[in-house]
Amino acid sequence: YVKAKGKNNYQIYDESIAYHYQRQFKIEKDLYKAIEHNQLTLYYQPQYCMRKKTFVGLEALVRWKHPSLGIISPADFIPIAEETGLIVNMGEWIIRESCKRMKELLNKGYKVTKMCVNISKKQLEKEGFVERIATIFEEIGIAPTYIEFELTESILLIRDNELLQRMEKLKNLGISIAIDDFGTGYSSLSYLPNFSFDTLKLAREMIEGIEENEKRATVVEAVLDLAHLLGCKTIVEGIETESQATYFQDKCHYMQGYYLSKPLPPEAVETFLEECHFAVK
Ligand code: C2E
Ligand code: MG
Ligand code: MG
Ligand code: MG
Repeated sequence: YVKAKGKNNYQIYDESIAYHYQRQFKIEKDLYKAIEHNQLTLYYQPQYCMRKKTFVGLEALVRWKHPSLGIISPADFIPIAEETGLIVNMGEWIIRESCKRMKELLNKGYKVTKMCVNISKKQLEKEGFVERIATIFEEIGIAPTYIEFELTESILLIRDNELLQRMEKLKNLGISIAIDDFGTGYSSLSYLPNFSFDTLKLAREMIEGIEENEKRATVVEAVLDLAHLLGCKTIVEGIETESQATYFQDKCHYMQGYYLSKPLPPEAVETFLEECHFAVK
């Protein structure tokens, strides 16, 4: 009996691994068609401003509606898009789409002040990136000051002069730059002054269990203070509970997380902005 059960378990295990690889293979094979077949969608997660006590920003988060696999998370396909170079076209589609959406919201009179777009280092490395971005803004007719690019903290490590100049050019266009997921990578605090950025986005991993962990709280508060001393705005992401929201209410400029709002499908954004009377205290 035990043996039979063991064998059975082994089979189930085996099938789930096979399923995993089949899915992975399909993702890799189908990804290049995702844009032309209109399978990508942007969800938007609202960002709450502590001072204005209302939602002022949106972060665009890409989703892939695969015809047979359903909705696929960016964690499952962005790394592949980066490896294959597909991220360049995909990223341009994402920038264009999010800027159009922002323009539309502004035209309709919504009081939103920024649209945050995640950018891969691979996009920045592509020749002509800044020029193409400038063209997109012009075509859509949106002021770059409404747009914030989120790059992970590995940009702090950039030594390449060419790339540093590109970052500078982006900033000169009027775009803001945020360091995303701060505190999860390998960059040390000593890299912070090497690079000028507008917003520091504290990683969800940094704030887990903050209410019970005094040492962690000390580190997080010191990092936020440091960012403020450097003249940066701060945003804490991954706020999942009321107690986290209360904890951070006077320690950062913006908050983002499931407790405030999940990422919204495009058709739900306007209703959310109209009807949400959320307030942290
Ligand atoms: P990210 O930029 O750090 O985005 C935040 C992620 O955390 C999102 O996952 C969001 O749905 C999730 N999140 C938000 N609030 C909470 C919360 O309270 N609790 C928890 N547990 N999670 C929360 P998502 O949408 O699956 O995106 C994952 C990552 O994929 C993003 O991390 C970003 O690095 C990347 N990504 C997403 N969209 C794009 C894109 O358009 N371009 C590029 N290059 N990368 C993207
Ligand atoms: Mg982000
Ligand atoms: Mg993040
Ligand atoms: Mg991330």
